[in-house]
Amino acid sequence: MVIASAGSARAASAAAVPPPLIELRDIRKSYGGTTRGPDGQPTPVVDVLRGISVSIDSGEFVAIVGASGSGKSTLMHILGCLDRPTSGQYRFAGQDIAGFSADELAWLRREAFGFVFQGYHLIATESARENVEVPAIYSGMPVAEREQRAAALLERLGLGDRLDHRPSQLSGGQQQRVSISRALMNGGHIVLADEPTGALDSNSGAEVMRLLEELAATGHTVILITHDRDVAARAHRTIEVRDGQVVADSGKSAAAGSRASLDAAALIGSMAAGVERTASFAADTREALRAAWRVLWVNRSRTLLTLLGIIIGVASVIVMMAIGAGTERQVVEKMASFGTNRMYVTPGGDNPRGPGGTLSEADADIVREVPNVAAAMPFLEGSVTVRHANVDTQVPLWAVTDEASRVLNWKPARGIFFSAKDEHQLATVVLIGKRVREKLFGDANPIGDYVLVNNVPFQVIGELDEKGATSGDADDDNVILMPFSTGSRRIVGTTNLSWISILIDRLDLADDTARQITQTLETAHHVRDFQVYNRAASVRAQTETQDTLTLMLGLIAAISLLVGGIGVMNIMLMTVRERTREIGIRIATGARQRDILRQFLTEATLVSGVGGGVGVACGLLIGAALIAAGVPAIFSVRAIIGAFGCALLTGLVFGFMPARQAARLDPVVALASE
Ligand code: ADP
Ligand code: MG
Repeated sequence: MVIASAGSARAASAAAVPPPLIELRDIRKSYGGTTRGPDGQPTPVVDVLRGISVSIDSGEFVAIVGASGSGKSTLMHILGCLDRPTSGQYRFAGQDIAGFSADELAWLRREAFGFVFQGYHLIATESARENVEVPAIYSGMPVAEREQRAAALLERLGLGDRLDHRPSQLSGGQQQRVSISRALMNGGHIVLADEPTGALDSNSGAEVMRLLEELAATGHTVILITHDRDVAARAHRTIEVRDGQVVADSGKSAAAGSRASLDAAALIGSMAAGVERTASFAADTREALRAAWRVLWVNRSRTLLTLLGIIIGVASVIVMMAIGAGTERQVVEKMASFGTNRMYVTPGGDNPRGPGGTLSEADADIVREVPNVAAAMPFLEGSVTVRHANVDTQVPLWAVTDEASRVLNWKPARGIFFSAKDEHQLATVVLIGKRVREKLFGDANPIGDYVLVNNVPFQVIGELDEKGATSGDADDDNVILMPFSTGSRRIVGTTNLSWISILIDRLDLADDTARQITQTLETAHHVRDFQVYNRAASVRAQTETQDTLTLMLGLIAAISLLVGGIGVMNIMLMTVRERTREIGIRIATGARQRDILRQFLTEATLVSGVGGGVGVACGLLIGAALIAAGVPAIFSVRAIIGAFGCALLTGLVFGFMPARQAARLDPVVALASE
C-alpha cells in the first residue's frame, strides 16, 4: 500500500511539471576501436564525450562554451539527432530517442531543429531562396507557400534583393543569414548554431548574434556553440565543456519557460502524422527533376562527354535498325520483281522412269483453291510463225490467261491486255513483244493492225513493255501473248499445259503452300506425276541472312548502351563524391534516406534520358542524311522507343548503386567532407 501511494504521488508530480525539452543522461561518444586503420590495426579508441548530463528547457538561450577539440560539435550533432551517442540516454520531450526510427529522426530534424553551421553549408548549385526552401521540400509544404515563406524569411533577414543569388555570389555574413533563414523554414523551434560567427568579420558576426538574440527573445530555444567567452556571455545560460565533460553550468534562467514558443508535447504528438507526410509523388518527382536538371546544366560539358556512350548506342540502334529494315525491304522487293513470290508446277515426276503425266486447265483450277495462292495460271508455250505484210518471223508463243499481267508482272507499253471475255470467246487477239514489233512494223504503231499467226489472222491489241530492260533477258521481248483458249485450241492444238504459273500472297508461308499444292494435286492425280518449284525458298534464305545482320547490328548497339551505362554509373559515383557535403546538408535539414535515393536515381535517369534523347535526335538526323544520300533506310518507331527505353533503364540500373551509396551516407561524415 505504502509503495503504491508513493508511486502515484510521483506520477502526479510528473504530470504537473512537463519533462524538459532536451535531457541528456551520461552521454558518451567514442570513435575508433572497430574500424581498421591503414596499417590494418584497429584505430585507437578516442573518448570524445565522457558522460555529459544536461537538461535544457523550451525557450532557453544556452551557450555551450569550450576550447577547440573539447567535443562541442560532437555534442551538437548528438543534440540535433545527426549522430547517435555510444552510450547514455537522450530524452526529447520525455521520449527516449533510442527507440526512434531513421524516418522519425529525420522528422525531428526537419520539424524541431534548425542547424546553423560555421561554414554555412549551403548547396552551391541552388539559389538563396531555393536553399531556404530545402527543409520545406522534405516536409511536403505546397510549392507556392514554400516559395512565399522562403522569400519572406530572407526579406526579414535583409536579403530581399538577393533571393536568386547563388551562395558564391553572397558574402559570408549574407550566407550565414541565408542559413539562419533555412533553419527557421519549418519553424526552427530549436536553433542549433555551431560557431555561427566563427568565419565572419566582427560586423557580420555582431549582426548574426543580434539575430540569434532576437530569435531567443521571440521564444525559440537557441543552443549556441562557441569557443569565445564574449560571444557566450550574450546567452542567458552558459554550459562549459572541457575534454568531453561539463565542468560548469550557470543554471536555467527562470524566465525561459514563459517565453517558449514550442509546445514540445504537442510536437511529439504530431510525430506519427508528420513522419509519413510528403508532397504528392508528382510534386516530389518534379522537385527531384528540377534539382537534377540544375546539376546537369552546371556540369553540362562533362555530362555530355560521359553520355557519348549512350548517345552513340541509341543513335546506332536507330540507324542500324533503319538500314537493316531498308535493305531487307529492298532485297525482298528485288527478289519479288524477279518472280520469287511465284511457284511453278510442271508435268512429269522427278524420276525420269516414273509416270509422264500431264497438266490441264482443271489442275490450275485445283491449285487456285489452295490457301495463300493468289493466282494459278495455265501456261502453254509453243513456236509460231508471225507474218505482217511481206515480213515473217519465227517466235515463241505464250498462251496465257488474262491473269498474265499480274502473274508475269508485265504490262502493255501501249494498247490493252486481253480480257476474260476474249479468253471465253477464243478471240483472235494478240499482244506482241517489243522486238517482234520492231521486226514486223518497224517504228509504226501496230495497235489495231492485223498479223497472221500460223496463217490465222489476229488483231494486235497491245505491245508489251520492254522486259529485257529489267530481267536482263532480251529474248523475253521476242514473244507473242494470246488467250490460252485461242492459243491451245486454234494454234498449238493441245490443251496440255507446259506448266502452271502460281502467284502467292505471303512469302513466309511459301513452304506450306508448296506442300499443300503437292498434296492437293497428288490426291487428284493419284500419283505424283508433276513437280512443284518453290522459288520463294531462296528469298527466305536471303531474308534470314538479313535478320542475322540486323541482330548483329543490334548487338553492337547493345554493347554501346552497356558502355553508356557504365558511363552513367561513373558520373553518378563522381557526383555523389563531389556532393557528399550537399547530401549531409540535405540529411541535416530533414531528408529521409528515400528522399536522397530518389534524388540521385532521378538524376541518373535524367542523365541517361537526356543521352537517350540526344541519341534519338542524332539517329534521326543520320538516318535522314542517309536517306537523302540514297541509302535505303526505314525508321522503326519500335526501335526508337525501345532504344530510348533501354537508355532510361540503363540510368535506373546503373544509377542505383551510387544513389544507394548516397542515401546511406553518415550525415556527420558527409557534412565534414571537403
Ligand atoms: P569541437 O567542436 O569542440 O572543436 P569536436 O566535437 O569537433 O570538437 O571534436 C572533438 C574531438 O573529437 C576532437 O579531438 C576530434 O579530433 C575528435 N573527433 C571528432 N570526430 C571524430 C571522428 N570521426 N573520428 C575520430 N575522432 C574524432
Ligand atoms: Mg567544432
